[in-house]
Amino acid sequence: MKYIDEFKNPNAAKAILAKIAKLAETLPAGKSINIMEVCGSHTMAIARFAIKELLPSNIDLISGPGCPVCVTDSGYIDAAMKLALRDDVIIATFGDMVNVPGAIEQHHDSLTLAKIRGEGAHVEVCYSPMRAVELAESNPEHEVVFLAIGFETTAAPVVSLVDIAIKKEIGNLSLLTAFKLVPPALEALANDPELNIDAFLSPAHVSAIIGADAYKTFVHKHHTPCVIASFEPVDIIYGIEKIIEQIINKEAFVDNQYKRVVKQKGNIIALKILEKYLETADVAWRGIGVIPQSGMKLRKKYSKYDAEQRFGLQIKPGIPDKRCRCGDVLKGKIKPDKCAMFAEKCTPLNPVGPCMVSSEGACAAWYKYRR
Ligand code: SF4
Repeated sequence: MKYIDEFKNPNAAKAILAKIAKLAETLPAGKSINIMEVCGSHTMAIARFAIKELLPSNIDLISGPGCPVCVTDSGYIDAAMKLALRDDVIIATFGDMVNVPGAIEQHHDSLTLAKIRGEGAHVEVCYSPMRAVELAESNPEHEVVFLAIGFETTAAPVVSLVDIAIKKEIGNLSLLTAFKLVPPALEALANDPELNIDAFLSPAHVSAIIGADAYKTFVHKHHTPCVIASFEPVDIIYGIEKIIEQIINKEAFVDNQYKRVVKQKGNIIALKILEKYLETADVAWRGIGVIPQSGMKLRKKYSKYDAEQRFGLQIKPGIPDKRCRCGDVLKGKIKPDKCAMFAEKCTPLNPVGPCMVSSEGACAAWYKYRR
């Protein structure tokens, strides 16, 4: 297959689904296979193409913590809002982040960057991190703070802002980092005794950066198959077939089914950038808690560009909103429609939790395609 249309071909999808149905029939009675898709783009594609509904009843797909907005802790949002309310600070951020609720409440309603922007806070939505450079250059009397969130995929282009700031001698630009790493999250999910995950459909974009080999240690340690697949329906269904084959054959290995983009060793240039500017750190995941060494922060050498250091912030993990069950959704313990707030008090127009904010959030996907 060479062209994108072939990865949406209904006949190809039907043929793979027929194979999956036959494989599923060979499972012992009462045995089901639980596959977690770790990436928010997979979650959205699975919902959009009704893939879950096309699978046999003993093959289940669970949405994991793969949406970077959804897993950004409320303590981080509160810190960003505090900075945004300062007269001398402009917050620059990707759009989804402005609607993510923090832990600070007003009139029984959680505050967001969008709400405080209505009260005069300086918040600029950016389509590219480069906009933060423009803002810093055109507002020399202000400090510009870029909300540096995301997985391995976004971390390299975002942290390159430090390189640009050094080269251009921009002194009023810094990053508030909340970068996350996928392999330590898999480790935490696999170690959670309440979860029952048989295999992971590994993310496409993240894998393009970290490479297929990055999952090897995890797979060998937990004997849990990881299959890397892209986001088109035929890609996803084929990835699921490959997972089921491994489980039936009692095998566990990293199967890279996205070789047209993902290399064994990843993107060497991006990995070198990450290594130069960032070091691993314990970080809080919303609804999950602190996962050891699951994030990246700026190295001490670049603390001048670290907003946390620059403004003397002490970001603590936020207290979860008891009404929102994003933590259980992100761990695959419940489906979104099992949250009492779903589609009632929590909708994409009025999100209570982050899983409903992002277009890649599990609750938003369920709301849009499965209600
Ligand atoms: S429906 Fe809303 S409140 Fe419930 S888990 Fe999802 S985002 Fe949180």
